[in-house]
This record gives sequence, C-alpha cells and structure tokens, in this order.
Amino acid sequence: MKTTHVVIIGGGFVGLPVAKKLASHFRMHANVHITLIDAKSYFTFLPRLTDAIHNEVKEKYINASYAHLAKKYGFTFICDTVLNINTTQKKITRAASPTPLEFDYLVYSPGSITNFYETPGAKEFSYTLKSWNDVQRIHKNIDILLSISASPSFVVVGAGPTGIEAIFSLQKYILQRCSEKKIPSTATYTLIQAATQILPGFHEKIVRGTMIELEKKGMRVITADPAILVEKSFVELKHSGRIPSDFILWTAGIKRQAIDINPPPNEDRGHFFLIDSHLDMNAYTFAGGDAASCDEKKIVIPKNAQTAYKMSRTISENIIRSIAGAPLVPFHYSSRGIFLPIADTCFLHIGPFVFKSKIIKWLRDIVYTQIFLEITR
Ligand SMILES: Cc1cc2nc3c(=O)[nH]c(=O)nc-3n(C[C@H](O)[C@H](O)[C@H](O)COP(=O)(O)OP(=O)(O)OC[C@H]3O[C@@H](n4cnc5c(N)ncnc54)[C@H](O)[C@@H]3O)c2cc1C
Repeated sequence: MKTTHVVIIGGGFVGLPVAKKLASHFRMHANVHITLIDAKSYFTFLPRLTDAIHNEVKEKYINASYAHLAKKYGFTFICDTVLNINTTQKKITRAASPTPLEFDYLVYSPGSITNFYETPGAKEFSYTLKSWNDVQRIHKNIDILLSISASPSFVVVGAGPTGIEAIFSLQKYILQRCSEKKIPSTATYTLIQAATQILPGFHEKIVRGTMIELEKKGMRVITADPAILVEKSFVELKHSGRIPSDFILWTAGIKRQAIDINPPPNEDRGHFFLIDSHLDMNAYTFAGGDAASCDEKKIVIPKNAQTAYKMSRTISENIIRSIAGAPLVPFHYSSRGIFLPIADTCFLHIGPFVFKSKIIKWLRDIVYTQIFLEITR
C-alpha cells in the first residue's frame, strides 16, 4: 500500500502541535508518515523572549529540542531551510539537500519575519527580537555599550505589544546591569510609533495605563511619526528629524517568510497567503499561524500565538479527515484573554474586562509555562 507523506514546514505554535498530534494519531498506521522541517533544531516560545531580556525566564522554558519530540512521538525531523514549494508537483526544495522532498499533504507554517518596511539602514543597524540568539546579541551589545558610553540612548521602533513589553524589559535589564557593575544608570529611552497611538487595537484602558507607566519610567514616546532612515547613531523620523540612538530595537511589524510557492497562492494586502475557513489553500495544502491570512465574518483573524496554537487543532483534525475522506471542519476564532506585561505589573483583557496587577504577571508566568510544557512534552 502506498505511504501517505505529510510534511510540515515550520515547528512553531502551529507546526509542532500538528506534528505531535498526527504522529500520535497515525502511530499504528505504517502507511502514514509525518515529517517536520525546521530551519533550527529547537522550538522557541516567542512570547517569552521579552521576559528573557531581563532574565526573568530560563532557557529551558523557551526552547525545546525537536529531535527529542520526534523520537518520543514517532515523526521524522529534518533540520533544514525550505526554499521553494511546488504545490502542483508536490515537491519541496531545501537549502542543504539537493533532493526534493515529496509530499501528499503539506502544512505551511513557517511563521513570519521582521518587517523593516524597506526603511534604509533599518535592517543593518537595528536589533530584532525573533529568537533566543537575538536576546543573547542584545545582552552582549548592551554590556559593551554600558562599558563605553556614559549615557547610552536606547530606541525602540514600533509600539505594538512586543515593542511595549520590550522597552520596559530593556530598561529593567539595564538597571540590573548598572547596579551589578556599580555604575550610574543614565540611559535614555525613546519609543517611536508610526501610527497615531501606541498599541493599536488594544482596549483604551490599556493604552492609557501604558502611557502613564511609560511616562513614570521616564520614557519618551513619539507617535504619528514613521522612521525614514536608520544610521549607526541616529534614527531619522519623518516629522521630528534625528533621534540619537546607540541601540535600536526594531519591532515595527511582521512580513511573510521568503519561501516561494508555485503556483503562487492568493495573497491579502500584506502579502500573506490567503486561506479559507478550513485553513487550506487547496485540497492537500493547509496553512496557519503568522504565515497565513484568513477572516471570519469579514474580520481579519489576529496573528498571535494563541490563534496559531488553536489553528494547529483544526489543521490536524482536517488532515485526519482528508486522509479518511471525511468532510472538513471550519476554524472559529476565539480569544481566552490577552496579557500585556509592563514593568513590574501586567494587564489582562478578557471579554469586556480589563484588569491590572502584579499578581496577573505571576499568573501569566504560570499560564505561559503550562502552555510551553503542553507543547513541548
Ligand atoms: C517577541 C515576541 C513576543 C510575542 N508575544 C506574544 C504574546 O505575548 N502573545 C501571543 O499570543 N503572541 C505573541 N507573539 C506572536 C507569536 O509568537 C506568533 O504569532 C506565533 O509564534 C506564530 O506561530 P507560527 O507557528 O505561525 O510561527 P512560529 O512560532 O514563528 O514558528 C515558525 C517556525 O518556522 C520555522 N521556519 C521559518 N522559515 C523556515 C524555512 N524557510 N524553512 C524551515 N523552517 C522555517 C522557524 O524556525 C520557526 O520554528 C510574540 C512574538 C514575538 C516575536
């Protein structure tokens, strides 16, 4: 009997749970084989990278090896970068192997990359926050800066949730290091936002509360002013001119991974691939998470870890159904609440309610650790 090969590209919040679920489901079926491909050898729990900046979480609660999980659940793991997918020939081209990988079903879930919006110098002179290595680079550079500059200037471009969490974490880390090195902490912090307000789409209580906290911590906030040029020592804004910067963290947006798909699927305005309510592009190609775009009742489904993880369940279910020849089930968006940690406190937005307290920060740690363990056990 012919083997059905399911290939999953990207082992993040979508891909890793799908690989585990399908491998467990088909464990006793010798004719269904599951392969996960990822460019790195370990899963990364991205929502905790901002905590990692100020050393509030250990690496073992952020990264987890795929090889171990592949052995435990019975899927094949390939560490390689996917370059090209031909959905007609059902073949994948990889960077480190000359032999194309063939598939019967495909899960496209390679997440996203930082969007510099083609701002000159932004990619060359900014730090990003998309991996554990990025955090290590940030730490190393801050330590160098603190040893050579009396009052370094830190700039964060992008005041969405990642930028907001990051600027408070950066300040906390810098204060920690200054205290350890017994040097005065005279660093300055500037948050730059192209949109007219910080945290677009967030509840107004969170926006107001965050603005108050930024002010309390002595941070300068510039809104409605996009960065148009980045150099080693400054960021140039469209209206406010040059803002001195010894260190720039760019968290201004995301864009699609550079993987070619032939024939090209339909795209939304942001060039993310469009999927329908069953999370498929065609009868045998499913997609989800940051890499794909779909809407429900004409509202675009947000791209975040919670949604990606939930999509993994629908994709797994639909692949099992497709192989069995059963009808597919639709994905329905729902939110269990949104955490936003700022400085030593944290917001929680559930339904119409907004809460803020130190205890919520502690609750977030527990919830995130539990989800990390659920995904990586
Ligand atoms: C700093 C930060 C903080 C965040 N905070 C939150 C938060 O608090 N709450 C929340 O809900 N969301 C948060 N998010 C967003 C959330 O992490 C993403 O929406 C989620 O990870 C998307 O899941 P995914 O499976 O689509 O992609 P990812 O989790 O990014 O996984 C994609 C995987 O694909 C692999 N890959 C990429 N390209 C290739 C290739 N060419 N070949 C092979 N493999 C490839 C990558 O190595 C990666 O392992 C945060 C993101 C960041 C960066």
